[in-house]
Amino acid sequence: MATGGVMGQRLAHLEHEIRPRVELLRPRRDRGAGGDVGRVRVPGALAGVRLDHDLESGLDQARRDLGDEGDAGLAGGDLEWDADAHGQDRVLYAGPAPARNRGPRRSARSALPGLLPSRWRERRSHRRREASSMCAAMRPGAPRIKVKTPIVEMDGDEMTRVIWALIKERLIEPHVDVRLERYDLGLPERDRTDDLVTVQAAEAIKRWGVGVKCATITPNEDRVVEYKLKKAWPSPNATIRAIVDGTVFRRPIVVRNVPPMVRSWARPITIGRHAYGDMYKSVEMRIRQPGKVELVFTPDDGSPPQRGVVHEFTASGIVRGTHNLDASIRSFARACIQMALSEKEDLWFSGKDTIVKIYHGAFREIFRQETDARKADFEKAGITYSYLLIDDAVARAIRSPGGFLWALMNYDGDVMSDMIAAGFGSLGLMTSVLVSPDGHFEYEAAHGTVQRHYYEHLKGRPTSTNSTATIFAWTGALAKRGELDGTPEVTRFAKALEQSVIDTIESGTVTKDLAAICQPPVAGHVTTEGFIGAVAERLATRVGQMAGAR
Ligand code: NAP
Ligand code: MG
Repeated sequence: MATGGVMGQRLAHLEHEIRPRVELLRPRRDRGAGGDVGRVRVPGALAGVRLDHDLESGLDQARRDLGDEGDAGLAGGDLEWDADAHGQDRVLYAGPAPARNRGPRRSARSALPGLLPSRWRERRSHRRREASSMCAAMRPGAPRIKVKTPIVEMDGDEMTRVIWALIKERLIEPHVDVRLERYDLGLPERDRTDDLVTVQAAEAIKRWGVGVKCATITPNEDRVVEYKLKKAWPSPNATIRAIVDGTVFRRPIVVRNVPPMVRSWARPITIGRHAYGDMYKSVEMRIRQPGKVELVFTPDDGSPPQRGVVHEFTASGIVRGTHNLDASIRSFARACIQMALSEKEDLWFSGKDTIVKIYHGAFREIFRQETDARKADFEKAGITYSYLLIDDAVARAIRSPGGFLWALMNYDGDVMSDMIAAGFGSLGLMTSVLVSPDGHFEYEAAHGTVQRHYYEHLKGRPTSTNSTATIFAWTGALAKRGELDGTPEVTRFAKALEQSVIDTIESGTVTKDLAAICQPPVAGHVTTEGFIGAVAERLATRVGQMAGAR
């Protein structure tokens, strides 16, 4: 299993500090004559610093790579470094595994002065106390629930990366024995690997079937400067969606004490977002002088090209070309139909085919064909399919009682899912799943990396970030793994974790985003860590009861 450790949060920060300055983090795999196994070549003062983050399977992999010489102090969930056999290079570990100490060991603080803020020192003993009280709350000797097949884990950026480590450490690892095939989609690693890591993660989802992803930065020009990037890498979500060829469904998590902003919404509205093409794959140009822009299609068979004038520019302007594929639209329609049938919810599809007659018209026609083909199933399930113009659909959605699946093109889905998420309470209460036609699933929170909170966190100030949607990404992946593997105890654990989160919120223990909108109002809010801690306590009790019932 990949490591998280009590210090996961610290490591997340540390990694952002170190990564841009490290050229090579992978250990050398060859054994030199002098036995300098696992030495890491990095420049300057950080020579030898090694993060196990970039290894696919964490500690076990580290042990294999490094051999005994490199098996430095793997203190229980703490951050340690050790000199290697030659006393030159250093190995930095983050490990929950029990210590097997060799050689001199010092704390990472002294190894990396300035990288570990003093607040970590203050929180360190507190965290240790918290961790031990959590262990005490668990039934002694209760075996962890075994997950048969690996899950693809994709780590991410900023505040969600901090939350990610906490969730793993406090909610997953104590209870579940799962092999995580880990890909670090944090921006520094994407930059280091020329974004190859994102492609590898997508391939891994296709290989294993189920993945769970942390929110990631989609770099813009500001981020290129901030992270000193080689270039503005594309959105990892767009890359993964394109490779997996999936449809993204977003569904709000409904809790009793967070009434929706829209009074009529009694049930969740699930958004199905087409995951291919449109503006996310568009080609655009800045036009700086008068001239003609044309669309030209050149057939491969040598027959005459098809042309259309986009615009005859008399002055400067802009132009964009977008495309889509019938096969992708069809599999989108099929995924939406499957989802609507399995949830027994009416299906809507909306576009603007009155204006964009060919592009949107093709979507409408393919949806008509596919829904016609499943007419009998729709009738059996007691649900309907409707095509609506997008503006009409928006107006109807606001007045509806909810409880339907709304299929949308890529951009419309991007916009509407955030509107629906805000309407149901908070972005922190919106889950997301990417479903491919061949049955691959990737779960994540719908929100981003919560950058503002992360900057507060870096300043050492307390944060109150809602981890609900990120926890539900984990439970979604675990429940699906349980379903596919035929291991109901794994699915039961996932449901127990979800219920622990819902009970925590409904008992009035909420983060700041929810405190502002809770009904009845709550007196205050808890910190990011406080919320996860409260969930951990409820979960430990539930898991204890489950183990008792077995
Ligand atoms: P964001 O991370 O979703 O956050 C926007 C605001 O929404 C936050 O500042 C916060 O409001 C509130 N919020 C979102 N999630 C919350 C949570 N879990 N708990 C409490 N409040 C929450 O969007 P952003 O700041 O525009 O984007 C930040 C980065 O995320 C960008 O670099 C973007 O590329 C990336 N992003 C990634 C994904 C993804 O990987 N799926 C999706 C969207 C954006 P307050 O500040 O008012 O507290
Ligand atoms: Mg969006």
